[in-house]
Amino acid sequence: MLSIVPKDTGWIEVICGSMFSGKTEELIRRLRRAQIARQKVAVFKPVIDDRYSTEHIVSHNEGRLPSVPVSSARQILELAGEATVVGIDEAQFFGPELVDVCQELADSGKRVIVAGLDQDYTGKPFEPMPQLLAVAEYITKTLAICVKCGNPANRTQRLSHDSARVVVGAQDIYEARCRYCHEVFEADDENKGE
Ligand code: ZN
Repeated sequence: MLSIVPKDTGWIEVICGSMFSGKTEELIRRLRRAQIARQKVAVFKPVIDDRYSTEHIVSHNEGRLPSVPVSSARQILELAGEATVVGIDEAQFFGPELVDVCQELADSGKRVIVAGLDQDYTGKPFEPMPQLLAVAEYITKTLAICVKCGNPANRTQRLSHDSARVVVGAQDIYEARCRYCHEVFEADDENKGE
């Protein structure tokens, strides 16, 4: 991926895509490689994501890495300490301040690897991912496979008619869909009483 290897500088890598596209798996792979090179690694995730484990980041294929749950992006600055590599999972749950936090970490010489959903369940850009993509040095878009037709999928289909932007869950609530098979249910339809 990196044809010129950066030296004595920090940078931001973003891994983004739909659910079931392997974002966390790729994050874990990069962080493990850094650990093998004996680099100091710190891993964070928002407390909202308690799907599998509060003390680990966990991919859908059961890969896991110890992580620190934090309730705000600011806490990452306080807790990153001497780590030279900082991993952040489920970035879409941190809100806009994550962008400044990642910039500060990278400015201070750290390699920052951020994974998150780039679109919400309606297919709209999920902040702060667009802003992170704009300031990142390296971007990886991961694609899933559409459950309906088998094409590459970059959208997340919510299977329930819940209209909240964040409904935490996995296989039973969401599936990967391509742009043709992705459907958005209007919350209002539910309330029209037809
Ligand atoms: Zn499809």
